[in-house]
Amino acid sequence: MSVATIFNPVQVKVLGEDLEVPVKGGRLVSYANLDYAASAPCLEPVSAAVTAALPAYSSVHRGAGYASQLTTARYEQARHTVRAFVGARTDDAVIFTRNTTDATNLLARCLPEGTTTVVFDTEHHASLLPWQRVVRLAPPAFPGEAVRQADEALAAIEGPKLLVVTAASNVTGELWPIAALAHIAHRHGARVLVDAAQLVPHRKLNLTALDLDYVAFSGHKLYAPFGAGVLVGRRDWLSDGEPYLKGGGAVRSVGALDDGATEWHEDAEPRHEAGTPNVLGAIALAAACDALTATGWTPLVREEERLIARLREGLGAIEGVRELSLWGPDHPRVGIVSFVVDGYTARQVAEALSTEYGIGVRDGKFCAHPFLRHLLDIADGGCEDDAASAVRASIGIGTTEEHVDRLIGALQDLVARR
Ligand code: PLP
Repeated sequence: MSVATIFNPVQVKVLGEDLEVPVKGGRLVSYANLDYAASAPCLEPVSAAVTAALPAYSSVHRGAGYASQLTTARYEQARHTVRAFVGARTDDAVIFTRNTTDATNLLARCLPEGTTTVVFDTEHHASLLPWQRVVRLAPPAFPGEAVRQADEALAAIEGPKLLVVTAASNVTGELWPIAALAHIAHRHGARVLVDAAQLVPHRKLNLTALDLDYVAFSGHKLYAPFGAGVLVGRRDWLSDGEPYLKGGGAVRSVGALDDGATEWHEDAEPRHEAGTPNVLGAIALAAACDALTATGWTPLVREEERLIARLREGLGAIEGVRELSLWGPDHPRVGIVSFVVDGYTARQVAEALSTEYGIGVRDGKFCAHPFLRHLLDIADGGCEDDAASAVRASIGIGTTEEHVDRLIGALQDLVARR
């Protein structure tokens, strides 16, 4: 074994690395978590940041007391950190939401009257479904075709338009040409929302450099616990849009019985963050941003690419295991791979991996039904019935060679006993 394979350059750690889980026969084995694309484990510095915030907290933006002042400062610092993390413009709004789904739905509610949204059928349902007036584009056969399709669709639309695209697919991990798509969208006077849920845990995103209008992502896929996400982007639509939640914090003033007029906050953040926000979630999300930045993208990407290449090579060598891909095996991707195993349903594979080998993967359609149907079609007739599903393995900080090799070995066993 070379030094490069035993030295892990990624210094930051996740919680639960020593977790043991029961397998058949009552044995305990170390857990091989290969389900990061669903939710990534919590980073140690994230846990530390939340623990540090616990002794003195109170609701934000309302109190003169020490705990409220401190919590407000921490919450606003979290906003600032997220802004820097995605390279947002100084005047962009940074709105804390529950998750990516909440963020895309928030933007959908704020679109100017008559906006048409253009979206690829490859999207996660969170980005496919919230739009009222929508043009859906078939999965493109190659990246350049995505740009051509968007070009044609946007040219044919009158009035306000929005193009929605994922930065990295939650099914195949494949990276989308978001800069080229943003460029074409702007040529047609459209705005672009990038679903970055699966990109930001794996790659640096710079909204300003890529000239994106909006990005959305979730803390729980970014090594923070559940409950916080963000929508970042151009302020005007968000400041004009109907307040997402109506209640305390979103208003400037509420009239008395006889006038009844409500004056909503014109600043996008308070306007859409009514009620007591998820301050700890925001602190956790921001701590994850800080920890990834401090670790550095170069070692993170290098280690991930090494492990995902090892996994894909191993899968490719097993007869009857077929990887799903839209743009072919050489197209760049993040640490996500989906596959089918001939002779088994995806559920059978996932259950066997869990109960016999202590490996956690995801099976199903990954909240991307149209895309999965398409991928199974191109993977050689795997989609004969509508219930067809796939298995997804996804990696990140804390994934080891042993996890990867265990998955490959387990699949070899399963195929051999078929
Ligand atoms: N977009 C993509 C690409 C995803 O992978 C996911 C979750 O799997 C979502 C959106 C929705 O994220 P959440 O469930 O955190 O709202």
